[in-house]
Amino acid sequence: MSEDLTPYGTATNTLYADIALPMAVREVFTYEVPQELHPSAKAGMRAWVPLRGRMSIGMIVRLHHNVPSFKTKQMRRLLDDSPVLSAQMLELTEWMHRFYVAGWGEVIQSALPAGLNFSAVTYIKAVPQPPEAVVSLTKTEQQLYDEVLELGTYSFKEAQQRWSSSQRVMASLRKKGLLELWDEPQLDMSTKVESVWIWKDKKQAEIQQRASSGKLNKWEKAWMGLLNEDVLPAATGPLNSINDAFTPYSLKRLQKEGVLGKTEREVTASEPNFAYKPESISELNENQQQLVDTIGEAITQNRYEKFLLYGITGSGKTEVYIHTLKQALEAGKGALVLVPEIALTPQTVRRFYLIFGPKIAILHSRLSERERFDAWQALRKGEKNIVIGARSAVFAPIRNLGIIIIDEEHDTSYYQADPAPRYHAREVAAVRAFKTGSALVMGSATPSLVSLVETTRKTSRLLKLPSRHSGAMLPDVKVLSLVEYKSAMRGPLAVPLYNGVVEAVDRGEQVILLYNRRGFASFMQCEACGDVVECPHCSVSLTYHKRQQHLRCHYCGYSTGVPYTCPSCDSHEMKMQGSGTQQVEDELGQLFPEYRVLRMDQDTTSRKNAHDRILSAFGRGEADILIGTQLVAKGLDFPNVTVVGVINADTELAFPSYRSSERMFQLLSQVAGRSGRAAKKGVVYLQTKQPEHFAIRFAKEHDYEGFARQELSVRKPLLYPPYSRILQFSFKGKDSNQVRLTAEQFTRVIEQAGTSYPVLGPTPDVIERINDEFRWITLMKLPPDIKTAKLQRLCEHIYTWFDKTKPDGASTVRITLSHEMI
Ligand code: ADP
Ligand code: ZN
Ligand code: ZN
Repeated sequence: MSEDLTPYGTATNTLYADIALPMAVREVFTYEVPQELHPSAKAGMRAWVPLRGRMSIGMIVRLHHNVPSFKTKQMRRLLDDSPVLSAQMLELTEWMHRFYVAGWGEVIQSALPAGLNFSAVTYIKAVPQPPEAVVSLTKTEQQLYDEVLELGTYSFKEAQQRWSSSQRVMASLRKKGLLELWDEPQLDMSTKVESVWIWKDKKQAEIQQRASSGKLNKWEKAWMGLLNEDVLPAATGPLNSINDAFTPYSLKRLQKEGVLGKTEREVTASEPNFAYKPESISELNENQQQLVDTIGEAITQNRYEKFLLYGITGSGKTEVYIHTLKQALEAGKGALVLVPEIALTPQTVRRFYLIFGPKIAILHSRLSERERFDAWQALRKGEKNIVIGARSAVFAPIRNLGIIIIDEEHDTSYYQADPAPRYHAREVAAVRAFKTGSALVMGSATPSLVSLVETTRKTSRLLKLPSRHSGAMLPDVKVLSLVEYKSAMRGPLAVPLYNGVVEAVDRGEQVILLYNRRGFASFMQCEACGDVVECPHCSVSLTYHKRQQHLRCHYCGYSTGVPYTCPSCDSHEMKMQGSGTQQVEDELGQLFPEYRVLRMDQDTTSRKNAHDRILSAFGRGEADILIGTQLVAKGLDFPNVTVVGVINADTELAFPSYRSSERMFQLLSQVAGRSGRAAKKGVVYLQTKQPEHFAIRFAKEHDYEGFARQELSVRKPLLYPPYSRILQFSFKGKDSNQVRLTAEQFTRVIEQAGTSYPVLGPTPDVIERINDEFRWITLMKLPPDIKTAKLQRLCEHIYTWFDKTKPDGASTVRITLSHEMI
């Protein structure tokens, strides 16, 4: 430490900057601001600072004159002309940093788009040696040195690839100070490309000749069918499920024949091609108007207030949102609308676009870095002032925010589990609304119990829309006991559901069939010893995939061929158990060979826009039946759907968690809301093994309030959320003994940390081993309304104490903290 330091806390003229770096550390770092940067440095700007012998990008979170007790390094330069994070956003990210015990830099990194965050590139170059230098080099070192010197500046990543066999030589050159490594901020962004098909040669004469000389193969038919198209449809989507001719085989074959070729093109987001007719806004009914007036009061008075808008599907919540947004705009304010990622479809966006048109910026996960950056800039400049987006849009830079809306507020996609920071967008939105004096409206037909209980604690206000605007009835729900219909099944469908499907399609109406993927894993079991084939890296059984004919681990991706003998006892009696999703689909296909069936699940929707395309095709009536996983349950509105069938309504219950009943009830209610939305009355069939389960009984009656009452009465005595907030400490590492010892010591520290909060654990996690890592957890139940400062103090205390008492080898165990999703 240098002599001339003034004692800690004494004001001097030296300016210091507290800087958040993109790392999982709890502290910020203090740097000295050089004299020439004093006038321009501001909190919210990025700076270029030395860190552990390298250079790094950091965010200035605070400027001050408090002399630190340690020697500080100098900041090198500023990377922004004006702050990229406003004072409000600095406060918000600081709150997340404290409340979720995440690195402030980590939080900022997830809040900012690439190009404005901490992306940096590492470069390498050779340091020229003065002629009198006397560093002695081996022959190989000299060779590599000369090569690097000649090439000039190189990206470190490329250098590592290029000289991959000479890593050791490189390291020793670095040690001798002859290679220099440094980082540069990366201020340009990647664009997104997609691969599309183009004509190489139509070979018109050839195909016509083939056609005249006999029957065409499938791929030849595809060729014929395409001839009239100048521009090929981008065949990266689910064309094959809409038009039989476009099988991957056909396309590959045409490529081989030199007819089609593949090329890459940049994906750009043009303004959406939707109608913009602000005058077409609906007149509200009396009930809706009253709610809009209530919310509008908070907006015009710049007052924070939190509302829970509870209204059944089709009651007009979206109309209320639209009118509320209009009020905000008229008061000169900006707005933020959060929807679940999966609901961010053209169907949703179109309705907002109709009224607000080009004022809207849409943020979703399929945007390229460039598009996201452009949307941010347009918002910062005030060219746009409404954001519609998924979870991370909660950080969008809206000017003069007046209202935040969270649609389907109970949806689990608002929780970010991975990567850090782990946060709940609903909670972040509430803090943002509070800090900006905005209204927060959370809407749902099945509000989360946490949000519901807040209305009784008076931290939010309950607004109700009790009936459908159209007056349409909610559909009849029929519960089919799989036990009772055991001998009356057609494939996976009980006879009444099967008949319902046939009758609906015969009337020209449409059907949605839903299954929960999690309930349909099939696995291999040995008949002789009973062993199930497990993943060698995880404590789970491998799932059988019929099409690929292999077994796969859904946690680590490991896959292997189907074994013919038992790995434990060598017996040949291996047997498939459980009916997999593919089998269910195959069986449904066989049941209805003459119907047009569309399929939607993770496999068919992994491609860009596939989700939208399948839904639009179904909406246009291009299929009779839509089969899918939970994906089909959310946010869809098809007037012609009159029958909805849930093939396995109770699989959620197989996963032991206090939340499983709530999850199941929400899912079933969502699905039920999909049927009979327009004039035609709908029917919903729920197939279940537990027809008497209370979540099924209340779902049948569309009785959310009844369900909530009963579920809350179960949770209250057990102190489950919403009667507590659960902190989960996770311990992960390769050495099972070490993980257990660390978990035990950490838990002892928590128990002795001087609180009387209940602690559960340590116990092995539900899946004890994933990817060769052992996992233990400990839970702590805190009061639901614990204050940020208290929570932060508690965690600091625990970590500090643990650091002093940790067992040897604890450093090989990663300890993370998360708030249980609520
Ligand atoms: P929710 O968002 O609660 O599911 P929506 O806002 O989608 O409900 O309303 C359901 C249907 O009723 C939509 O087709 C909507 O256009 C219509 N609707 C709701 N309120 C009105 C209104 N005041 N005037 C005209 N149509 C309305
Ligand atoms: Zn066996
Ligand atoms: Zn695995």
